[in-house]
Amino acid sequence: MTVTPSVSSAKGRVLIVGATGFIGQFVTESSLDTGRSTYVLVRPSACGPSKAKIIKAFQDKGAIILHGLVNDKEFMEKILREHEIDIVISAVGGENILDQLSLIEAIKTIGSIKRFLPSEFGHDVDRADPVEPGLSMYEAKRRVRRLVEESGVPYTYICCNSIASWPYHDNTHPSQVLPPLDQFQIYGDGSVKAYFVAGTDIGKFTMKTVDDIRTVNKSVHFRPTSNLCNINELASLWEKKIGRTLPRVIVTENDLLTAAAANCIPQSIVASFTHDIFIKGCQINFTIDGPQDIEVSTLYPDETFQTLDDCFNDFLAKLGDKPVNTNKITTTNPVVESMAITA
Ligand code: NDP
Repeated sequence: MTVTPSVSSAKGRVLIVGATGFIGQFVTESSLDTGRSTYVLVRPSACGPSKAKIIKAFQDKGAIILHGLVNDKEFMEKILREHEIDIVISAVGGENILDQLSLIEAIKTIGSIKRFLPSEFGHDVDRADPVEPGLSMYEAKRRVRRLVEESGVPYTYICCNSIASWPYHDNTHPSQVLPPLDQFQIYGDGSVKAYFVAGTDIGKFTMKTVDDIRTVNKSVHFRPTSNLCNINELASLWEKKIGRTLPRVIVTENDLLTAAAANCIPQSIVASFTHDIFIKGCQINFTIDGPQDIEVSTLYPDETFQTLDDCFNDFLAKLGDKPVNTNKITTTNPVVESMAITA
């Protein structure tokens, strides 16, 4: 089946899978903010006060909630047809990447989806080559890419690089905690650069691409120059914000490889990506001049990205009046030592 890539001037109806997740929330909020008809697939098992609160907030903004599983092909065909969905965005988590295979089959069967964005939201998985266990996740994402390409469904791959935050090597959602207040763990010599993009910008620019004809069958790379930074610079920025200097402890390449080899999921997956980013330079060691590549700032030159300075100001505001034991210096897990940002 081949669907001719096209774009309509009207905003297509969007179905977001994984909307209650970390990345999915940014994308869903942006979709709702732009006034687009937004359908949200929620797992029947999704319960608990935090998920209920997220779902209620989406509903209040006009989202239509559908209950079901993305890996239920017949169900997905039914809802895509019934609700006349034009665009499907998936933000399922790392452990559910292959659940998208049934979704792609459903999209292919109904034949009317104008764009599919699989759950990517990180590196270009055909180029990056992390050690295990991160490699297995990339192999799953590559398998999804190949099925999407074979299906003929117009697609866009969002390669948004790192989320703006302190890049803890054992935390899948590092922007949910504050940068360190006791010591910095610096990977290698701290000089390898990466792109740190605010979660809200990941959502905002993802939504811009979904019915932009220039992004059909392309990988959209998020490389805003204002957000390119190494970890030494990131540490200095946070020191400036909190008004004091912190000790810097070196985490060597070998330390990261050992953490990855421990195969403790999901922390070891993050360690393997941290190694790929801050030791091997996987975000900056290739040029994006291939026929399938496009850089997001060149698509939307009038739109600005939140700078790292803005993002770290937000962290500082969240730090607020929380009591912090500034004298405590420890060499244990930084996640334990970092402060979770609570509502
Ligand atoms: P989360 O684990 O936070 O959320 C996953 C979402 O998918 C949840 O809403 C979950 O539902 C839903 N889901 C999972 N399986 C199914 C299913 N079978 N049917 C319906 N819904 C399902 O994911 P993340 O936000 O961490 O990851 C999303 C993507 O972003 C991944 O590709 C990941 O690699 C990438 N990522 C990128 C980061 C970056 O810094 N660039 C950081 C983190 C992730 P429920 O609420 O019921 O659990």
